[in-house]
Amino acid sequence: MPEHTKYLLSENDIPKDWYNIQADLPFEMPPVLHPGTKQPVGPTDLAPLFPMELIKQEVSKERWIEIPEPVREVYRLWRPSPLYRAHRLEKALQTPAKIFYKYEGVSPAGSHKPNTAVAQVFYNKLEGTKRIATETGAGQWGSALALACQLFDIECKVYMVRISYDQKPYRRYMMETWGAKVVASPSKDTNSGRAMLAQDPNCNGSLGLAISEAVEDVVTNPVPSKYSLGSVLNHVLMHQTVIGLETIKQLELAGAEPDVLVGCIGGGSNFGGFAFPFLPAKLKDKNNKLRIVAIEPAAAPSLTRGLYAYDYGDLSMLTPLIKMFTLGHGFIPAPIHAGGLRYHGMAAQIGELYRHGYIEARAVQQRATFEAGVMFARTEGILPAPESAHAIRGAIDEALKCREEGVSRTIVFNLSGHGHFDLTSYDKYLNGKIEDYVLPDEEIRKAQEALPVV
Ligand SMILES: *Cc1c(COP(=O)(O)O)cnc(C)c1O
Repeated sequence: MPEHTKYLLSENDIPKDWYNIQADLPFEMPPVLHPGTKQPVGPTDLAPLFPMELIKQEVSKERWIEIPEPVREVYRLWRPSPLYRAHRLEKALQTPAKIFYKYEGVSPAGSHKPNTAVAQVFYNKLEGTKRIATETGAGQWGSALALACQLFDIECKVYMVRISYDQKPYRRYMMETWGAKVVASPSKDTNSGRAMLAQDPNCNGSLGLAISEAVEDVVTNPVPSKYSLGSVLNHVLMHQTVIGLETIKQLELAGAEPDVLVGCIGGGSNFGGFAFPFLPAKLKDKNNKLRIVAIEPAAAPSLTRGLYAYDYGDLSMLTPLIKMFTLGHGFIPAPIHAGGLRYHGMAAQIGELYRHGYIEARAVQQRATFEAGVMFARTEGILPAPESAHAIRGAIDEALKCREEGVSRTIVFNLSGHGHFDLTSYDKYLNGKIEDYVLPDEEIRKAQEALPVV
């Protein structure tokens, strides 16, 4: 009997609860601060932005939080997602390692992001929200939210970072097909946008600026509106734990025990959702042999080179202050081809786990990342998102280490999405037009000077 390639679960195996790592963290998380008073925020401070249930989840210490049935019903459209054994990649690498990958590209939006979009929109619907505004970079989060808003009949407005709006129209068409209204950020629709346009009419925009616009939009719009964030926050990472919970069951089916987990990190949600359910044993015993490795781009290296400090989530300093690894709220990233990994900050939970030595982090270069993505497409068939190719690079490097050392380890990585809307980037890579970029030290010094005084 040949070994399986896919490990599939039935719809009954879709998790019934999300795993809340907050219950098991052996350290206290620094409080989130109000941007004006610099005092810890309370639920009423966040109420203009988020529905109360999500605010509760953000601070909850309950280990398991029930997934509402209407959310599981939508999850059934694509969950459980498959776990694959990468037989062909292993062979190409001539490695004694076993490589598995969990594939989140099977969702309608093509990434893990609908796992939280559906949950967030559901709670908004319950609490009477009529309209949700958000930001999007390359468009993955915007399309996930547009899909979820369509399914629960809520209006959706997306501020899309200008450079992507101009260069990647297909994600916009997808959002518009799902009924969302999309504008380029900076836009004329908000004070933050107008101020930036006055300064620089050709501004390419940034996620930090688009967040400012979306936040300003929801607090000023006469229609009951809320804001929605696709990564970084505790409740977002928690919604993503369906990934890791399913993976645990699938590895049991495969009779495999992971030695190394690998994921890419932008704001930390797919990595957190994939890795957190594996963490309890390690949190109890730091000598547990499982290694958990986060891979980030050398152009936006928030964990490996960022500052650990209180910072804003956005450019206009409207959001609460989070103690996190950050490249500064004014960070305008180099136009690397992994749009989803260009955010300046990293989820606080990931940052604390890193600081306390429970997870590792590595930064990788763009060309090596595309090289890994192309190798994956040529062996396993799936054309990965450039973001996900960072995880592939990490997994391949672990597998090559196994080859050098002549040991077999089980490597499991999260393939967060497909790259069907990133073909221009592949075209550039295949024609030798992708360049490496490392964030200069000078940029980090500038960020240090602009940090808020707390
Ligand atoms: C958005 C995105 C990421 C990065 O965001 P995280 O919150 O760090 O997961 C990674 N991969 C894909 C496919 C994405 O769409």
